[in-house]
Amino acid sequence: MASRYLSEEEERELGRIVRTAMKTKPSVPSSSPCPVPETIRSLAFHEKLDTATVEEVALHVTECYECAMLAEKYVNEYREEKKKKIEKK
Ligand SMILES: [Zn+2]
Repeated sequence: MASRYLSEEEERELGRIVRTAMKTKPSVPSSSPCPVPETIRSLAFHEKLDTATVEEVALHVTECYECAMLAEKYVNEYREEKKKKIEKK
């Protein structure tokens, strides 16, 4: 299965979304229900997702502190994995 890594720019953008959400710590309930953790993980690992899902989850993450924490965790995992792969080459 082909999964590509995030470009520097995409990675920064994702990091920015997560940091903003964590800083603002939204107190209003988000407009969409929490996605399953697998979807957030897929987003962080940039697996194939349709654009609508990516947008929906990205928006939700900005509105939901818990999901932002989860996204942060997965983004860190993703970075670790990427580092390992690069070191192996
Ligand atoms: Zn949520």
